[in-house]
Amino acid sequence: MFESSDFSSGAVHVVERLQDQGFEAYVVGGAVRDLLLGKKPKDFDVATNATPEQIKQCFRSARIIGRRFQIVHVRSGREIIEVTTFRGHHDTDTGSQAAQASQSGRLLRDNVYGSLDDDARRRDLTINALYYDTVAQTLIDKMDGQADVAARIIRIIGAPADRYREDPVRMVRVLRFAARLEFDIEPRTRSAIAETGTLLRDIPAARLFDEWLKLFMNGFSAPTCALLREHGLLTHLMGDGVDAAHDTSAAQLLQHQAMTNTDRRVAEDRPVTPAFLLAALFWPATEQRADQLMARGESPLQAMHSAGQQIVQEACQHLAIPKRFSFAMRDIWDLQPRLERRQPKKVKDLLAHRWFRAAFDLRLLREASGGEGDECSDFWSAQQQQYPELVGSKRERREDKGRRRTRPRRRKPEA
Ligand code: ATP
Ligand code: MG
Repeated sequence: MFESSDFSSGAVHVVERLQDQGFEAYVVGGAVRDLLLGKKPKDFDVATNATPEQIKQCFRSARIIGRRFQIVHVRSGREIIEVTTFRGHHDTDTGSQAAQASQSGRLLRDNVYGSLDDDARRRDLTINALYYDTVAQTLIDKMDGQADVAARIIRIIGAPADRYREDPVRMVRVLRFAARLEFDIEPRTRSAIAETGTLLRDIPAARLFDEWLKLFMNGFSAPTCALLREHGLLTHLMGDGVDAAHDTSAAQLLQHQAMTNTDRRVAEDRPVTPAFLLAALFWPATEQRADQLMARGESPLQAMHSAGQQIVQEACQHLAIPKRFSFAMRDIWDLQPRLERRQPKKVKDLLAHRWFRAAFDLRLLREASGGEGDECSDFWSAQQQQYPELVGSKRERREDKGRRRTRPRRRKPEA
């Protein structure tokens, strides 16, 4: 069915070694789905009946990650294979050490182990519950995932509302895969979201930010955002600020263009920063707030500064935006009125600002979406041509020293 060259050498090795030691082991999830779709998998996950401790004994490089949902990272060369033990069924009200649920039924801990059958039933989508034995070269399909891949359908396993209550993040996963794969959402999988959407508000803000990265920084932010909005999840995820002024076409256009630009850059493998996209998505809210503050007598610079602070703080009630990004967002906003002023004495300083380029890009978006005339960007284009070496030259000093990952961390149901 597949060639062994379809799988990474690490994945093949991990499966072989576990099977040699007498365990069951399969490549599972996104990699099998992507191969069926003729796409190159971005990473490989392995599922096994070996416990985390037993997995550790098979691989010197193995490390157990996470407490509430334990997984094992096995390093093979430069690759990291994520190995999970088959999850089993448990009563949600037992409150035992291994499994624990909140009042709404949300799983706070999920370390009850089970068989391959149990594991398949506990996965989120039928198309993600496909297992491939790279040794025997057989596909195991307990949930009719193959048929759904062929029919291009996203379908939750089990009763959708119950599965969303167990883990509300599954709702955004449904929309993410629908957008990214351009699949249809099965009607019950779709309609249950209306019932349970608000539960997203109970998810810890740090986990929501990780999910936000997967939703918006993986090259499909525009279609994903449209689905989130359609299902009323966008404000649960990002807070009301993201919808401020959304009734104006300029705000809609600006947000849409920011996302399509980001998606294009991802497709072209060019660098993207969450700070810029967040700054653009929350710009209409920030601008509106700054206008209100100015009407109360604050100066433009002061108003923008306070507005930025408030909007970031409100957004962080939902999304735990790391400081390195939220500081950058506020810098990008603070630069807007400064760019507009075009003060000759400040030109070089502003050009050298590490977020000048991003601030200029936001200014371009504001002009392109019909909110502003283009004299300001004309001016700054000319300045950049005159002093190209200055642009963003203060960059290295501050943040890039200990550059941290901006790629989504991979988390399992409960973090
Ligand atoms: P991607 O290509 O984005 O990595 P993926 O399907 O591999 O897609 P992961 O987030 O890497 O997605 O998760 C790996 C597998 O773990 C999924 O295929 C799914 O079977 C299972 N899984 C992940 N999150 C959940 C969840 N919240 N509930 C149930 N199962 C989940
Ligand atoms: Mg994966």
